[in-house]
Amino acid sequence: MSSNKKPSKRKRPDDLKGTIARIWRYLSIQKGWLFLVIVMVVFSSGFSLLGPYLTSVAIDNYLVPAELEGLPLILGLLVAVYVLQSAATFFQNFWMIGIAQKTVYRMRKDLFHHLHRLPIPFFDKKTHGELMSRLTNDIENVSRTLNSSVIQIFSSVLTLVGTVGLMLWLSPLLTLITFTIIPLMFLGMKWITNRTGHYFKEQQRNLGEMNSVIEETLSGQQIIKSFSQEKRVLTQLNEKNEALRTSGFWAMTYSGFIPKLMNVLNNVSFLLIAVAGGLLSLKGLVSIGVIVAFIQYSRLFTRPLNDLANQFNTILSAVAGAERVFNILDEKEERPDEGDAVSLQQVKGKVAFRNVSFGYEKGGATLTNLSFEAKAGESVAIIGPTGAGKTTIVNLLMRFYELNGGTIEVDDHDVTKVKRESLRQNMGFVLQDTFLFNGTVRENIRYGRLDATDEDVEEAARVANAHTFISRLSEGYDTVLNQDGGGISYGQRQLLSIARAVLADPAILILDEATSSIDTRTEIQIQKALWSLMEGRTSFIIAHRLNTIQRADQIIALDQGKIIEKGTHEQLLEQKGYLWGQVGT
Ligand code: ADP
Repeated sequence: MSSNKKPSKRKRPDDLKGTIARIWRYLSIQKGWLFLVIVMVVFSSGFSLLGPYLTSVAIDNYLVPAELEGLPLILGLLVAVYVLQSAATFFQNFWMIGIAQKTVYRMRKDLFHHLHRLPIPFFDKKTHGELMSRLTNDIENVSRTLNSSVIQIFSSVLTLVGTVGLMLWLSPLLTLITFTIIPLMFLGMKWITNRTGHYFKEQQRNLGEMNSVIEETLSGQQIIKSFSQEKRVLTQLNEKNEALRTSGFWAMTYSGFIPKLMNVLNNVSFLLIAVAGGLLSLKGLVSIGVIVAFIQYSRLFTRPLNDLANQFNTILSAVAGAERVFNILDEKEERPDEGDAVSLQQVKGKVAFRNVSFGYEKGGATLTNLSFEAKAGESVAIIGPTGAGKTTIVNLLMRFYELNGGTIEVDDHDVTKVKRESLRQNMGFVLQDTFLFNGTVRENIRYGRLDATDEDVEEAARVANAHTFISRLSEGYDTVLNQDGGGISYGQRQLLSIARAVLADPAILILDEATSSIDTRTEIQIQKALWSLMEGRTSFIIAHRLNTIQRADQIIALDQGKIIEKGTHEQLLEQKGYLWGQVGT
């Protein structure tokens, strides 16, 4: 199942135009600022073109004829042009960064907002790694590209067109001679990028492989140690590390050639202009000033060509990233509540499944024609082998998935006619895998009911038999826990999760009994806490312990998505069916 869940590494967008149009919709919210940025880019590019021209005027009109009175003016003008160019560059960058950050801020906001409205089946299909990568890497990629590339493309095109125009205007002949360098440049760049492309891809792949080994190593330390696999993992890491070193070395080496090559070609064009310009000026065809301007323009001209080539891939990969973000935004949200959906008032807790059929996959039959009823306040133990469909029943009760057939009723209301929020508010969970948030013990318990006072939290902890162990923690209720529940035991995490449910005070409880063994004393504490929590509530227990099964008001035995037995403990033992076989009498 996990083979089709690999994070996608696609670099090119499927729908370039459509995606760019959508990015534009985000950008266009700040049209005014964008306009200012463009004006600044026009200014900064214009000023950078004006500089060499003014230099040529200074040389030809003032220096060569030795007319020194006018010189300070033109030099002052040159200084002003360069200062203005710097100012325009500063503002274009400053404003563009603001626009980019606001844009990705909105994208992130939309994405977070949307994620909360997506149905559970969506999360079944995606790995956490993939979603994380979209929320972080892809958006970061868009942000980086917007920060610099938009301006760079714009100013590169302007500078390129401007330089070529000015060069042609100053001397068409010298322009043609300078241009002979272009084919050389393209050939050289192609030779390098062919090689760097290969090694960069290799490097990316090796990096990905090494990261996944590192991730496994970190999260699987216990398993690795307990199976004494340290050596094997180390060898694996060393191999990946070595591969990464080799590909990284060649990628860096070849890409290091690019500035060197540009430098060499710039010097060649300098030589060409100097020699050809010198010869032409002897014949009186060009002036010294024009030659000096040309030397500067030829530099201005090769840089944007290089930049444009570099930006192309960055932009494509950012657009592909944006497309992946938009794909999530396009995922269908959980079907909204029906217009006439009601809120449940003072739920008593009667629950009925009537001929319920359901499959995770289209056409699949995970549950077939399931019917049972739980009276308000009753405890129902659900038993059966792994994969029988116990968890699925619970998922359906919470309306995480839509039924294929039949109805589920709470207090005689069809749940599809009840507002989801109202339904879920009236249900509480105590699951095997207690989910703890980064935060204090108090915050973790308060998650059950956010407006609970500190006294309420403590009271709930007492009911859940958790108060004693919490008091013994170094910081008591203010002890900070992390997601792995660092510092507290598995059993203690269960007690916290029970306290959370006590605080939430739901009419219907869903309990997933721990399968792993807990020391007897904690086990007794948990059992006691659970039974006091279940007092007066309808509860469904995915039960593994005989004790729990014996005490339940009703037992439902499932196999392959069908109810095979239903009744009280005594009734089922009399039938000598599944339960009887399990008890092993
Ligand atoms: P139990 O809780 O009794 O062990 P489940 O209700 O978890 O069983 O699973 C019942 C069946 O549904 C199993 O065959 C399982 O493989 C399948 N299943 C469970 N969850 C999913 C899911 N998210 N997507 C697809 N199939 C699932």
